[in-house]
Amino acid sequence: MLIYEISTVSIHTEEIKTMENKTANYCIACTVTQCRNHVKTANYCALDKIQVGTHESNPTATQCTDCESFVVDKTCDRCK
Ligand code: SF4
Repeated sequence: MLIYEISTVSIHTEEIKTMENKTANYCIACTVTQCRNHVKTANYCALDKIQVGTHESNPTATQCTDCESFVVDKTCDRCK
């Protein structure tokens, strides 16, 4: 008879919340603070997942890629 041991993994769950009550997704690091989905208090996105795409037919560099989940933050003074 085989007995399998199931180990539990402790996950760091400290949350960063903003005044808008956004929670940082530590799997999506981002520095685009002009985006409405950015948590602002740290360099993370608040979404559960994002869509990354390209505006090029043959992307060959970082700047060829885009976060297609970006939404301009209308409260951002730098974005007006
Ligand atoms: S949606 Fe994209 S650009 Fe906006 S905060 Fe998230 S990762 Fe950054």
